[in-house]
Amino acid sequence: MYEYKGVKISIVEGDITKMESDAIVNAANNTLLGGGGVDGAIHRAGGPAILEQCKKIGGCPTGEARITTAGNMPSKYVIHTVGPIYKDGKQNEEQLLYNAYYNSLKLSKEYNLKTIAFPSISTGVYGYPKDEACKVAIRGVMDFIDDENEIEEVIFVLFSRDNYLLYEKILDDIIGRG
Ligand code: ADP
Repeated sequence: MYEYKGVKISIVEGDITKMESDAIVNAANNTLLGGGGVDGAIHRAGGPAILEQCKKIGGCPTGEARITTAGNMPSKYVIHTVGPIYKDGKQNEEQLLYNAYYNSLKLSKEYNLKTIAFPSISTGVYGYPKDEACKVAIRGVMDFIDDENEIEEVIFVLFSRDNYLLYEKILDDIIGRG
C-alpha cells in the first residue's frame, strides 16, 4: 500500500472484474462495443446491460472516458476509456494515455466515486511498453490528486506477476512505502 497526499494507492495482482471498488476502468476501443483482453472479460462478467448502455453512448474518442453501470459485477460502475495504440512513441501516445487516466478520474469525481480500479491500459493488444505505461499511469493519478482531493483509493489491478512487480518497483521509486 502506498499513500499520496492522503489518497491510498494500491496494487493488486488479479482479475479486475472481481474488484469491489466503486468503479472499475475498462481499456475499451473507440466503438465501445467490446473486444478482447480486459474489455472482453468485463463484458462477459458484467452481462448484456453494459453493452446496451455502450451502444447508446455511441463510441468514445481516444483519451476520453464514458461511464456505464457494472451489470453483474461487484463494482458499481464501469468507466470505459480508450488508450492509444502504440506505434513509435511519436504519435502523441503518451499524452493520450495520460488523458485516459486523468479523464477517467475526472468522471469518477463527477459521480462522487471514492474508489477506482485501473487495469494497465494499452499494454495488451495496443502494445504500449509496460514500464513507460506504468509511469504515465502513476503520473496521471498523482496529477489528479494534486488537482482534486475527493478520491479515497486508486487501485492498479495487474493481470500478471511481472506487471505487478513492475508497478511495485516503480511505485517504490516514485512514492515510497506508506
Ligand atoms: P489494450 O487494448 O488497451 O492494450 P488489453 O485488454 O489487450 O487492452 O490489455 C490491457 C491490460 O489488461 C494488459 O496488461 C492485460 O494483461 C490486462 N488484462 C487482461 N485481462 C484482464 C483482467 N481480466 N483484469 C485485469 N487486467 C487484465
